[in-house]
Amino acid sequence: MSETQFLFAPPPRPSVAIDGDIRRFPVRRIFCVGLNYAAHAREMGKDPGAEPPFFFSKPADAVVVSGSVIPYAPMTRNLHYEIELVAALGSGGANILRTQALERVYGYAAGIDLTRRDLQKQARDEGKPWDLAKGFDQSAPIGSIRPAERIGHPSSGQIALSVNGALRQNGDLADMILDVAGVIAELSRYVALATGDLIFTGTPEGVGPLVPGDRVEGSIAGVGEVSLEIAR
Ligand code: MN
Repeated sequence: MSETQFLFAPPPRPSVAIDGDIRRFPVRRIFCVGLNYAAHAREMGKDPGAEPPFFFSKPADAVVVSGSVIPYAPMTRNLHYEIELVAALGSGGANILRTQALERVYGYAAGIDLTRRDLQKQARDEGKPWDLAKGFDQSAPIGSIRPAERIGHPSSGQIALSVNGALRQNGDLADMILDVAGVIAELSRYVALATGDLIFTGTPEGVGPLVPGDRVEGSIAGVGEVSLEIAR
Protein backbone atom coordinates (compact mmCIF):
# COMPACT_ATOMS: atom_id res chain seq x y z
CA MET A 1 0.00 0.00 0.00
CA SER A 2 1.45 3.32 -0.98
CA GLU A 3 1.03 6.29 1.31
CA THR A 4 -1.62 8.85 0.40
CA GLN A 5 -0.15 11.81 -1.44
CA PHE A 6 -1.62 15.24 -0.81
CA LEU A 7 -1.58 18.30 -3.03
CA PHE A 8 -0.23 20.29 -0.11
CA ALA A 9 0.81 19.43 3.44
CA PRO A 10 -2.31 18.65 5.48
CA PRO A 11 -2.95 21.29 8.12
CA PRO A 12 -1.68 20.53 11.63
CA ARG A 13 -4.00 18.50 13.84
CA PRO A 14 -5.69 20.69 16.46
CA SER A 15 -4.97 19.39 19.95
CA VAL A 16 -5.47 20.05 23.65
CA ALA A 17 -3.03 19.64 26.55
CA ILE A 18 -3.51 16.70 28.92
CA ASP A 19 -2.72 17.46 32.55
CA GLY A 20 0.30 15.47 33.71
CA ASP A 21 1.04 13.99 30.29
CA ILE A 22 3.46 15.17 27.61
CA ARG A 23 1.13 13.75 24.96
CA ARG A 24 -1.66 15.94 23.60
CA PHE A 25 -5.29 15.06 22.91
CA PRO A 26 -5.89 15.24 19.12
CA VAL A 27 -9.19 16.92 18.36
CA ARG A 28 -11.47 15.37 15.77
CA ARG A 29 -14.64 17.47 16.04
CA ILE A 30 -16.21 19.94 18.46
CA PHE A 31 -19.87 19.53 19.36
CA CYS A 32 -21.74 21.89 21.68
CA VAL A 33 -24.99 21.75 23.61
CA GLY A 34 -27.34 24.74 23.58
CA LEU A 35 -29.66 25.68 26.47
CA ASN A 36 -28.55 22.93 28.84
CA TYR A 37 -29.11 24.96 32.03
CA ALA A 38 -32.63 26.22 32.76
CA ALA A 39 -31.57 29.60 34.18
CA HIS A 40 -29.45 30.31 31.09
CA ALA A 41 -32.32 29.29 28.81
CA ARG A 42 -34.52 31.81 30.62
CA GLU A 43 -31.93 34.60 30.33
CA MET A 44 -31.87 33.87 26.59
CA GLY A 45 -35.63 34.42 26.50
CA LYS A 46 -36.45 30.72 26.16
CA ASP A 47 -38.71 28.43 28.17
CA PRO A 48 -36.51 25.49 29.21
CA GLY A 49 -39.60 23.30 29.53
CA ALA A 50 -40.69 24.00 25.96
CA GLU A 51 -37.30 23.97 24.24
CA PRO A 52 -35.08 21.03 25.20
CA PRO A 53 -31.29 21.18 24.77
CA PHE A 54 -30.02 20.93 21.19
CA PHE A 55 -26.70 20.61 19.39
CA PHE A 56 -24.41 22.64 17.18
CA SER A 57 -20.74 22.47 16.29
CA LYS A 58 -17.53 24.42 15.87
CA PRO A 59 -14.56 23.61 13.64
CA ALA A 60 -11.85 21.55 15.36
CA ASP A 61 -9.31 24.27 14.74
CA ALA A 62 -11.34 26.76 16.79
CA VAL A 63 -9.53 25.41 19.90
CA VAL A 64 -7.33 27.94 21.68
CA VAL A 65 -4.67 27.11 24.26
CA SER A 66 -5.69 28.35 27.70
CA GLY A 67 -3.78 31.47 28.70
CA SER A 68 -3.72 32.87 25.17
CA VAL A 69 -4.26 36.48 24.18
CA ILE A 70 -6.72 36.48 21.30
CA PRO A 71 -8.06 39.31 19.17
CA TYR A 72 -11.61 40.59 19.64
CA ALA A 73 -13.53 38.55 17.04
CA PRO A 74 -14.43 40.31 13.76
CA MET A 75 -17.98 41.02 12.57
CA THR A 76 -19.49 41.41 16.03
CA ARG A 77 -20.17 44.13 18.56
CA ASN A 78 -21.32 41.68 21.22
CA LEU A 79 -18.75 38.94 21.84
CA HIS A 80 -19.90 36.81 24.80
CA TYR A 81 -18.22 34.33 27.17
CA GLU A 82 -19.86 31.02 28.16
CA ILE A 83 -18.03 28.77 30.65
CA GLU A 84 -18.64 25.08 29.95
CA LEU A 85 -17.66 21.61 31.08
CA VAL A 86 -15.99 19.87 28.12
CA ALA A 87 -16.06 16.08 27.75
CA ALA A 88 -13.19 14.66 25.67
CA LEU A 89 -14.08 11.33 24.09
CA GLY A 90 -11.68 8.40 24.13
CA SER A 91 -14.04 6.28 22.07
CA GLY A 92 -17.33 6.75 20.30
CA GLY A 93 -20.21 5.07 18.56
CA ALA A 94 -23.76 5.64 17.38
CA ASN A 95 -26.88 5.18 19.51
CA ILE A 96 -24.83 4.89 22.69
CA LEU A 97 -26.83 3.72 25.67
CA ARG A 98 -27.01 6.20 28.51
CA THR A 99 -25.74 3.55 30.89
CA GLN A 100 -22.63 3.03 28.73
CA ALA A 101 -22.02 6.65 27.77
CA LEU A 102 -19.51 7.65 30.45
CA GLU A 103 -17.21 4.79 29.37
CA ARG A 104 -16.61 6.85 26.21
CA VAL A 105 -15.18 9.83 28.08
CA TYR A 106 -11.38 10.01 28.28
CA GLY A 107 -11.40 13.12 30.44
CA TYR A 108 -12.79 16.56 31.17
CA ALA A 109 -11.68 20.16 30.80
CA ALA A 110 -12.99 23.67 31.36
CA GLY A 111 -13.75 25.47 28.11
CA ILE A 112 -15.27 28.73 26.91
CA ASP A 113 -17.84 28.79 24.10
CA LEU A 114 -17.15 32.24 22.68
CA THR A 115 -20.25 33.52 20.93
CA ARG A 116 -21.03 36.42 18.60
CA ARG A 117 -24.33 37.06 20.38
CA ASP A 118 -25.56 39.70 17.93
CA LEU A 119 -25.08 37.35 14.97
CA GLN A 120 -26.70 34.51 16.90
CA LYS A 121 -29.80 36.54 17.71
CA GLN A 122 -30.02 37.85 14.18
CA ALA A 123 -29.75 34.33 12.74
CA ARG A 124 -32.31 33.04 15.22
CA ASP A 125 -34.79 35.80 14.45
CA GLU A 126 -34.35 35.38 10.70
CA GLY A 127 -34.46 31.57 10.78
CA LYS A 128 -30.92 31.34 9.39
CA PRO A 129 -28.04 29.06 10.44
CA TRP A 130 -26.04 30.00 13.53
CA ASP A 131 -22.76 28.61 12.24
CA LEU A 132 -20.82 31.83 12.07
CA ALA A 133 -22.20 33.07 15.39
CA LYS A 134 -20.56 30.09 17.10
CA GLY A 135 -18.02 28.43 14.84
CA PHE A 136 -15.51 31.17 14.16
CA ASP A 137 -11.73 31.35 14.49
CA GLN A 138 -10.41 30.99 18.05
CA SER A 139 -13.90 30.52 19.46
CA ALA A 140 -13.10 27.55 21.72
CA PRO A 141 -10.51 28.31 24.43
CA ILE A 142 -9.93 25.20 26.52
CA GLY A 143 -7.81 24.24 29.53
CA SER A 144 -5.90 21.02 30.11
CA ILE A 145 -7.86 17.78 30.00
CA ARG A 146 -7.85 15.80 33.23
CA PRO A 147 -8.34 12.03 32.70
CA ALA A 148 -11.54 10.55 34.12
CA GLU A 149 -9.54 7.69 35.57
CA ARG A 150 -8.06 10.30 37.93
CA ILE A 151 -10.95 12.70 38.58
CA GLY A 152 -13.97 10.50 37.91
CA HIS A 153 -17.05 11.81 36.11
CA PRO A 154 -18.10 15.12 37.71
CA SER A 155 -21.86 15.50 38.09
CA SER A 156 -21.94 18.37 40.57
CA GLY A 157 -19.70 21.21 41.69
CA GLN A 158 -19.12 24.87 41.00
CA ILE A 159 -18.73 26.08 37.41
CA ALA A 160 -17.70 29.74 37.43
CA LEU A 161 -16.25 32.51 35.30
CA SER A 162 -14.86 35.91 36.18
CA VAL A 163 -13.96 38.90 34.03
CA ASN A 164 -11.19 41.16 35.35
CA GLY A 165 -11.59 39.49 38.74
CA ALA A 166 -15.36 40.06 39.00
CA LEU A 167 -17.51 36.92 39.22
CA ARG A 168 -19.93 36.78 36.28
CA GLN A 169 -21.06 33.17 36.11
CA ASN A 170 -21.50 30.97 39.17
CA GLY A 171 -23.43 27.77 38.53
CA ASP A 172 -23.40 24.12 39.45
CA LEU A 173 -22.87 21.13 37.16
CA ALA A 174 -25.81 19.47 38.93
CA ASP A 175 -28.10 21.97 37.16
CA MET A 176 -27.40 20.59 33.70
CA ILE A 177 -30.67 19.53 32.06
CA LEU A 178 -28.94 16.72 30.15
CA ASP A 179 -26.03 15.37 32.19
CA VAL A 180 -22.89 14.19 30.41
CA ALA A 181 -24.24 10.67 29.91
CA GLY A 182 -27.50 12.10 28.58
CA VAL A 183 -25.66 14.45 26.22
CA ILE A 184 -23.59 11.60 24.77
CA ALA A 185 -26.59 9.30 24.41
CA GLU A 186 -28.71 11.97 22.71
CA LEU A 187 -25.97 13.39 20.45
CA SER A 188 -24.97 9.88 19.32
CA ARG A 189 -28.47 9.43 17.88
CA TYR A 190 -27.62 12.19 15.37
CA VAL A 191 -23.97 11.41 14.62
CA ALA A 192 -21.62 8.51 15.21
CA LEU A 193 -19.35 9.93 17.89
CA ALA A 194 -15.65 9.17 17.64
CA THR A 195 -12.36 9.21 19.48
CA GLY A 196 -11.06 12.76 19.65
CA ASP A 197 -14.45 14.46 19.70
CA LEU A 198 -14.92 17.26 22.23
CA ILE A 199 -18.36 18.07 23.60
CA PHE A 200 -19.00 21.48 25.18
CA THR A 201 -21.92 20.69 27.47
CA GLY A 202 -23.58 24.09 27.83
CA THR A 203 -23.29 27.14 30.07
CA PRO A 204 -25.01 28.32 33.24
CA GLU A 205 -26.59 31.77 33.56
CA GLY A 206 -24.66 35.01 33.67
CA VAL A 207 -23.33 35.19 30.11
CA GLY A 208 -22.23 38.62 29.01
CA PRO A 209 -20.06 40.73 26.74
CA LEU A 210 -16.30 41.07 26.53
CA VAL A 211 -14.31 44.11 25.46
CA PRO A 212 -10.68 44.50 24.36
CA GLY A 213 -8.30 44.15 27.31
CA ASP A 214 -10.60 41.88 29.34
CA ARG A 215 -9.02 39.06 31.34
CA VAL A 216 -11.27 36.02 31.58
CA GLU A 217 -10.82 33.18 34.06
CA GLY A 218 -13.04 30.13 34.26
CA SER A 219 -12.96 27.21 36.67
CA ILE A 220 -14.83 23.98 37.29
CA ALA A 221 -14.48 22.31 40.68
CA GLY A 222 -12.50 19.10 40.43
CA VAL A 223 -11.92 19.57 36.69
CA GLY A 224 -9.67 22.53 36.04
CA GLU A 225 -9.30 26.06 34.80
CA VAL A 226 -9.28 28.03 31.56
CA SER A 227 -8.20 31.58 30.93
CA LEU A 228 -7.83 34.04 28.10
CA GLU A 229 -7.26 37.68 27.44
CA ILE A 230 -8.84 39.80 24.71
CA ALA A 231 -6.16 41.84 22.99
CA ARG A 232 -6.38 45.63 23.22
MN1 MN B 1 -22.57 27.43 24.85
